[in-house]
Amino acid sequence: MHHQAVITANPASPSSNGSVWGRTGIGRSWFRSLVAASPCFLAPLTSICVFVTLAQYEGSFALFGEAVTKEGLWTICVKYGPEITAKGIFAVVCWVGLQALLFRYLPGETQTGQYTPAGYLLSYRMNGLSAWILTHVLYGVLSWYGVLDPGFIPRNWSSLIGAMNLAGFLISALSFVKAYVMPTHPEDRKFSGSSLYDFYMGIELNPRLGENFDLKLFSNGRPGMIAWTLIDISNMAYQYQTQQYVEPSLILITILQGLYVLDFFVNESWYLRTIDIAHDHYGFYLAWGCFCFLPTTYTIQGQYLGLYPQSASKTHLAVFFAIGLAGYALFRSANSQKDKVRRSGGDCLIWGQPASYIAASYKTSDGKQHTSLLLCSGWWGWSRHANYVGDLFLSYSTCALVGSSHVVVWIYALWMTMLLVHRCMRDEKRCSDKYGAAWEEYCRRVPWRFVQGVW
Ligand code: NDP
Repeated sequence: MHHQAVITANPASPSSNGSVWGRTGIGRSWFRSLVAASPCFLAPLTSICVFVTLAQYEGSFALFGEAVTKEGLWTICVKYGPEITAKGIFAVVCWVGLQALLFRYLPGETQTGQYTPAGYLLSYRMNGLSAWILTHVLYGVLSWYGVLDPGFIPRNWSSLIGAMNLAGFLISALSFVKAYVMPTHPEDRKFSGSSLYDFYMGIELNPRLGENFDLKLFSNGRPGMIAWTLIDISNMAYQYQTQQYVEPSLILITILQGLYVLDFFVNESWYLRTIDIAHDHYGFYLAWGCFCFLPTTYTIQGQYLGLYPQSASKTHLAVFFAIGLAGYALFRSANSQKDKVRRSGGDCLIWGQPASYIAASYKTSDGKQHTSLLLCSGWWGWSRHANYVGDLFLSYSTCALVGSSHVVVWIYALWMTMLLVHRCMRDEKRCSDKYGAAWEEYCRRVPWRFVQGVW
């Protein structure tokens, strides 16, 4: 049964432009849409350059730059870039196929997401944790019995990246076509006026195959996320095979990233209420991002150490591991506080005190008034995005644990900074449109975005 409440802007809001979910302005000119969609070209190019720098130039952009100056970018990319091989394609097809089967058939509790703009309240089966465990057990068993080389991933990295790139583009193209020819919820589609931009940011909000196979949750939460820890473990195995030992830094990075990934699956239903699932449409940004960018970029630290083992001092490792754990604790605690206040309708304790919140109202297109709670105490009273700050501490510490000054090992943290700052801006614009004066009141009571006294 569908609830036909459609969220629109709060008429009380002076900044309201009637577009709670929207992307206004893009697509007015070819130039603007080209600029907005340029990541479709720039992101794959960057991932190729990073791959070549890691594989051929010891992770040094300076050496890569010298080679490019001498021979030209095109020549270098063709010579050393990711390969498209039958083996790589077969491996990625098996991987995505396995994850699709687990996603479709493993049992799990059914949870609902948030109302979509067209009023749909979708159900999702939460079986990510069992899929993660089963996949890792399978990897362990197949490796133990010699069926699978545990260092398979770094050993075939070039072919795997080539195939993952293809998969990302293919799924983006298919979702673009699907949005026109067989949309799941036509009223939830978003057209910007520029096909290029629509390809990049997506048209459908929650594309599904049949009733239950949710393409967005699958691609955001399965092939890439589960591969993340597997890639780290495979890099450890590879290092052990080639060096007969595993660097402590690589073990600590794998533990921190494993904690982050495991947290994602343990709290999978929480993910249904985040921006990715509740607000972002499904296009190249999410499809290619999760199929290719996540597994190639989020694992650079492990890739680097797998290729170039090096040891930082024990103090260095202890300090950054502790900062990473603290970042994770902040990330989890802030996210849980928000979830707690929303689930309990505000009837809960935050840091031992009754939760303080603003009841923010917004109107739906059927004229009905609804209320959301904006928590103003705990971490959400300290800053408006303390969860992002925890994530950044964790990201920077996993890069610092490598113990290298090469820019390439810091790419993950730099990316997370860009992503979360940009996310903060667009989310605040959306909240301001949705809640109007109540959001202004929240910003007045909690004036800092990330860190008190800084920003
Ligand atoms: P949030 O979980 O912070 O969700 C933002 C939404 O929460 C807002 O749109 C609003 O939604 C609601 N909200 C805002 N202020 C309050 C408040 N004071 N009290 C209660 N609700 C509030 O953001 P994200 O979805 O971006 O991120 C979730 C987590 O995932 C973060 O910790 C982030 O670091 C992490 N993340 C990691 C990524 C990665 O690649 N590793 C990528 C993206 C995120 P509403 O309309 O419901 O009011």
